[in-house]
Amino acid sequence: MMKKGDLSKLVRPNVRALKAYEAKEIPCRVKLDANESPYSPLPPEKIFSNKDVLCSLNRYPDPEAKALKKAFAKALKVTDKDLLFGNGSDELIYYLITTFGGPVLFPTPTFVMYGVIAQALGEKPIGVPLDATFDLDMDRMLAIIKKDKPKLVFLSSPNNPTGNCYSADRILKVIEASKGIVVVDEAYQPFSSSRGFLPLLKDYKNLIILRTMSKIGFAALRVGYMIADEILINEVNKVRLPYNLNALSQTAALEGIKNKKVVDARIRAITDERERLFDELAALEGVTPFPSEANFILFKVTDPEKIFQGLLKQGVLIKNMDRVIGHAMRVTIGSRAENTIFIDALEKVLNK
Ligand SMILES: *Cc1c(COP(=O)(O)O)cnc(C)c1O
Repeated sequence: MMKKGDLSKLVRPNVRALKAYEAKEIPCRVKLDANESPYSPLPPEKIFSNKDVLCSLNRYPDPEAKALKKAFAKALKVTDKDLLFGNGSDELIYYLITTFGGPVLFPTPTFVMYGVIAQALGEKPIGVPLDATFDLDMDRMLAIIKKDKPKLVFLSSPNNPTGNCYSADRILKVIEASKGIVVVDEAYQPFSSSRGFLPLLKDYKNLIILRTMSKIGFAALRVGYMIADEILINEVNKVRLPYNLNALSQTAALEGIKNKKVVDARIRAITDERERLFDELAALEGVTPFPSEANFILFKVTDPEKIFQGLLKQGVLIKNMDRVIGHAMRVTIGSRAENTIFIDALEKVLNK
């Protein structure tokens, strides 16, 4: 008879060594910790008035998300054969590592899921520290590409949690040097002043672009997508689970793209607020914010834990990044009212 104590020994060592991803639900008045949009851009009746969806809940959703592909292809000026949707871009990261394998190279600090998923799949994650300006350290990146021949390189640009874009010429050098796939994760591209890498897809066949609707007001839907050469799309599509995008998400995402003007206006409101918040943070003594191309700002303080707890006491939740970048915290850009509450609360804690 098997004992309870033996159960964990059945688990593959790479999985046993992992820690489950904790998205702690801390109750708060102002939630600025997860890079979500403060705005839900669609009135609920827009989605739930769609009788076709609600009357066919007994049927599986469109396995290919055809309508969604068509609408996105048009908006992005690509063909629908160059697109693949995932249950969030997280799922696509899973599929990419399943399809191409490792080693999986990424600069650090960055989005944690590249490393977590690589390990879950038994592939080797290789993190290379960013340089002092949070840009790619080219000597080290190119050395690893030569020595370890990574099958996949993940570049989050703009990068989470630092907020900056990597220099385009450095990204290009990585793409040119790599014998594997280079994924430019553009989760925050809508907030950036740079055009992103979509226009370069034609010229670089090993390039894959990753985007998501999560940061622009649709986090609950879990809709991410990748754009790449049809050959790559077809290979990744083989490991995709059927019906990975549920019917309500497909319908709501389609409404989202139809209402692009509303969504874009909200994005502009957020980037305007980002500039205001940056100036306000820079004006505070003991606070050093870093310029951001995303919907959050990284800043340094003397004692992040004290600030974190002090803010939480006033109902404001942000992210303590001290363990990732010494003295750093990350605040998501909220609505104007939320940002003002945050700044006032921060000032209070600093003056204590
Ligand atoms: C939030 C985030 C994602 C995940 O997005 P989902 O589509 O919600 O899974 C991917 N990459 C980066 C860099 C992110 O910050």
